[in-house]
Amino acid sequence: MQYQDPSFAAALVAWQKQHGRHGLPWQNTRDAYLVWLSEIMLQQTQVAAVLGYYARFLERFPTLASLAAASVDDVMAQWAGLGYYTRARNLHKCAQRVVAEYGGVFPSDPALLAELPGIGRSTAAAIAAFSAGRRAAIMDGNVKRVFARVFGIDTYPGERRTEEAMWARAEALAPDEDIEAYTQGLMDMGATLCTRSSPSCERCPMQARCVAYATGRTAELPVRKPKKATPEKAARMLLLVDRGQVLLEQRPAVGIWGGLLSLPELDGHLPLADAGEPAADAAVAAAVQPFGVMESLERLLPVMHVFTHYKLHIQPLLVTLSSRAALAGEQRYQWLDAGALPGAALPAPIKKLLLELLGEHRQARIF
Ligand code: SF4
Repeated sequence: MQYQDPSFAAALVAWQKQHGRHGLPWQNTRDAYLVWLSEIMLQQTQVAAVLGYYARFLERFPTLASLAAASVDDVMAQWAGLGYYTRARNLHKCAQRVVAEYGGVFPSDPALLAELPGIGRSTAAAIAAFSAGRRAAIMDGNVKRVFARVFGIDTYPGERRTEEAMWARAEALAPDEDIEAYTQGLMDMGATLCTRSSPSCERCPMQARCVAYATGRTAELPVRKPKKATPEKAARMLLLVDRGQVLLEQRPAVGIWGGLLSLPELDGHLPLADAGEPAADAAVAAAVQPFGVMESLERLLPVMHVFTHYKLHIQPLLVTLSSRAALAGEQRYQWLDAGALPGAALPAPIKKLLLELLGEHRQARIF
């Protein structure tokens, strides 16, 4: 099978037995309740933070049956301060399911464990390995880091194909014997040796086979999440002013700024003959024609607005009219007094733009 290499597990198991952690309160037991509770608490939480909670929780709920019989409020109260509270709700639901469906005894099959609330594939494997000695592969953030470095995996582990390949590797490397020490070894290595920012390579049992160490890339691996370039869009907006008023358009109900008033967009709702080209005076005059006869056109400096998913570059085209046409049948357009702009339902960047551009010094000039 691809990725098989018994020497990997042998080195890890030998190291764990000699140098790994052995005295944690959830170790040296096959009690699935104790193992399960620790694995859930350790999701997204460091060992040091879990220790006190684990002891107090077990004092209050010493058995699975006592936890299943408790109220959810009682469980939440014991969890308070540990964070990620969905874990506590799922913990309670899971206890009730194990009592109802398995007579209060956790199944040892990782596939069945993974169907219970709050237990994912990796947690199921850890519970099965520690409580039943079942050969099953774990894959959490620590293991991904160790694998990425030891095997020189230079694609982002959160990417589906990379993650699938890591799972395949984890399945292939898990040993038939000593699965407990192996699983604990992976956890211990990730937490104590192969740490994110300063791995202790000089003490590491994987040093001789570690690609990141050999190539000086421990700081680069695992590959960080690639940053997506923010898409950029451009819009030419018509800033049509006439007799102390500004022409506004109500935007469609869906899409950005849905239902708000905004500036009419050339190439958007207003046709522009030469869309894609710099707005020629004649083309702008033609677009303006339904509202009146263009007197002057000034291309103002572009402004940029950053949305969550893209950047919008707005090119404002300031237009004055020599005569105004009636807005016959054009319900979505309206002339608004400049003085009413601060209270109008305008998108924040458009309001800012208008208030800046039509500030008093400008108003005096253009209205
Ligand atoms: S040699 Fe260093 S980088 Fe490689 S697995 Fe060990 S601690 Fe991590």
